Amino acid sequence: SSKIKVHSTFEGMNLNPLLLKGIYEYGFETPSAIQSRAIMQIISGKDVIAQAQSGTGKTATFSIGMLEVLDTKVKDCQALVLSPTRELALQIQRVIQQLGKFMKIQSYGCIGGSQINEDIKNLKSIKKQIISGTPGRILDLIKRRFLSLKSLKLLILDEADELLTNGFKEQIFEILKTVNAGIQIVVVSATLTRDVLEMTNKFTSNPVKILVKREDVTLEGIKQYYIQCDKEDWKFDTLCDLYDSLTITQAVIFCNTKVKVNWLTEQMRRQNFTVVSMHGDMKQDERDEIMNDFRNGNSRVLISTDVWARGIDVQQVSLVINYDLPIDKENYIHRIGRSGRFGRKGVAINLLVKEDRKELKALEKYYTTRIREMPSNLGELM
Ligand code: ADP
Ligand code: MG
Repeated sequence: SSKIKVHSTFEGMNLNPLLLKGIYEYGFETPSAIQSRAIMQIISGKDVIAQAQSGTGKTATFSIGMLEVLDTKVKDCQALVLSPTRELALQIQRVIQQLGKFMKIQSYGCIGGSQINEDIKNLKSIKKQIISGTPGRILDLIKRRFLSLKSLKLLILDEADELLTNGFKEQIFEILKTVNAGIQIVVVSATLTRDVLEMTNKFTSNPVKILVKREDVTLEGIKQYYIQCDKEDWKFDTLCDLYDSLTITQAVIFCNTKVKVNWLTEQMRRQNFTVVSMHGDMKQDERDEIMNDFRNGNSRVLISTDVWARGIDVQQVSLVINYDLPIDKENYIHRIGRSGRFGRKGVAINLLVKEDRKELKALEKYYTTRIREMPSNLGELM
């Protein structure tokens, strides 16, 4: 992959001027490392496997590539982006829409939990050229023949390792069966295990691979700490002590289950702390409202499950707390990566009971990183 040409400016990519205008208006000046290497590879039409650390601009990488290769005259779905959560699918759609806003392109987000009749109506009224969605809803629309992929030429799998493992795998392969043979496929994530890379052999051909070694996946800008709590009850007291620091900017607290999220939210509120929470059992309109409030900064401390672990981009988040250590090692990287977006500083704090020490050591070893005991003065960290 060292042979890949690096394009250090957006002008140097020879993009459609309307797209270039959209990029600058969006506020980007120079391409990030992954953008400078992967955008032109996508434009060249090759299959691409693009790995880069969290918060380094992978969304714009595939969005710019996609917008450039799109034929604006063809009013049919030419590009499909799949991602694992509804909030992420909508976030991606908004990025595409804004980068392409001078290009007269129709893009649309299809997600579960919303009225499928709305999707059907919208897909019928104006043909969408780009669709961003979650696998279940997309598959549903394909099966019911409201979404045709006969003109599809580009398929993007964002958070591909998540899509190719946890529960989504069958749906993804079912979708892959319905697309034309030989379409271009782009695989994206901050974490790609050997198993996942091997699996991509089944549906990519001779892909360009831009990969990150596991010891380079953690970001320097995110400081990682642990607090030893011994007993489970102590975690709660520790979190209460930390609350003032959480509200300096914005913070996300991760628990492993929906039940725990509900429990912790209730406990915090009982102590008069202001928190909001989100998980997969909530109604979509409630999730939307919580996301909006958090994105505008109306709420500052969010308690969630791994539904929030991947892809969500809220630049003001500077602190992530693992109330529970994540079950899988990849999600550790994704959770702490909700802070430290695009070179910003972040702090991750892991609350541990005795049994967690081993798992923490395993994480340090897996990523060749240091997770230090938290100093008593958190103020100095922020
Ligand atoms: P990733 O998918 O790699 O985790 P995102 O695509 O969500 O990261 O981007 C993270 C943040 O960086 C977003 O807020 C995005 O707007 C910003 N960003 C991306 N590319 C650039 C750029 N070239 N210049 C400035 N900011 C950028
Ligand atoms: Mg992303």
